[in-house]
Amino acid sequence: MAVVRIDLRGCINCGWCRRVCPTETIRYFSTGHRTHIVERDGCIDCGICVKVCPVACIDPEQYTVPEDRLEAAKTKARAYAAEQRRLKLEREALVARTLAKLAGSTAHA
Ligand code: SF4
Ligand code: SF4
Repeated sequence: MAVVRIDLRGCINCGWCRRVCPTETIRYFSTGHRTHIVERDGCIDCGICVKVCPVACIDPEQYTVPEDRLEAAKTKARAYAAEQRRLKLEREALVARTLAKLAGSTAHA
C-alpha cells in the first residue's frame, strides 16, 4: 500500500493538509524542526491532503502500514467522517431555524 509523504523542501507550512486529514496523522506542533510531516503508520492514503496542498508537495510513497495501525487509522477516519456529518446536520438545522425565525418576524411586520 502507498501512503503519502510531504516534501519538506516545498512545504510552506500553511497547515491545510493537517486540518483536513481524517486520521490526524499530519503533525506540525509536535515536530522539533517546525515543519509538517506525515506519520506513515496513521495514513490511510485517502488523498485528501494531496488535493488541498497549494504547492503540490505531497507525494505517494511505497510503505505498508502494519495491520493493527491501519485498522486504528481507519477507525479514526470513520469517527472523523461521522463527526463531520453531525456538524453539517447541525449547521443545516441552525440555518433552517434562523430562516424560519426571519420568515416569522417579517410575517408579523
Ligand atoms: S492521505 Fe489522507 S490519511 Fe494520509 S496524510 Fe493525507 S489526509 Fe491524512
Ligand atoms: S498543505 Fe502542503 S504546503 Fe501546506 S502545510 Fe501541508 S504540505 Fe505544507
